[in-house]
Amino acid sequence: MENVDCIFCKIIKGDLPSDKVHEDDTIIAFRDINPVAPTHILIVPKKHITDNNDFYPEDEEIAGRMFSVVRELAKKEGITESGYRLIMNTGKDGGQEVPHMHLHLIGGQKMQHKIG
Ligand code: AMP
Repeated sequence: MENVDCIFCKIIKGDLPSDKVHEDDTIIAFRDINPVAPTHILIVPKKHITDNNDFYPEDEEIAGRMFSVVRELAKKEGITESGYRLIMNTGKDGGQEVPHMHLHLIGGQKMQHKIG
């Protein structure tokens, strides 16, 4: 369930501090230490799932909960109407730095780069 070397597992356990904005049985969310926008929150499953390649059907409920937490947090942050970007980096080419699956919720300003 937990990976002793993982910084996000340490935050989940309370062994490392974080600016926590949400916690329930499945998910923790905290502000990114290096924000790229006024709202930059990481939505993190408590279960240690390394990345999307480590995500299996048994975890589908977790993903659903992650997206519901995004909606709740967007409302709290006041960015429901203005909009936001969700990013999940996976692996080396995806630019993933922390090998514990997470969503970035980024908003509060217009995104500079259009994707697609
Ligand atoms: P990624 O590149 O998708 O793995 O994103 C990892 C994110 O975690 C980066 O945006 C970091 O700024 C952020 N981060 C790393 N350590 C911490 C920490 N202790 N508390 C909050 N955010 C962190």
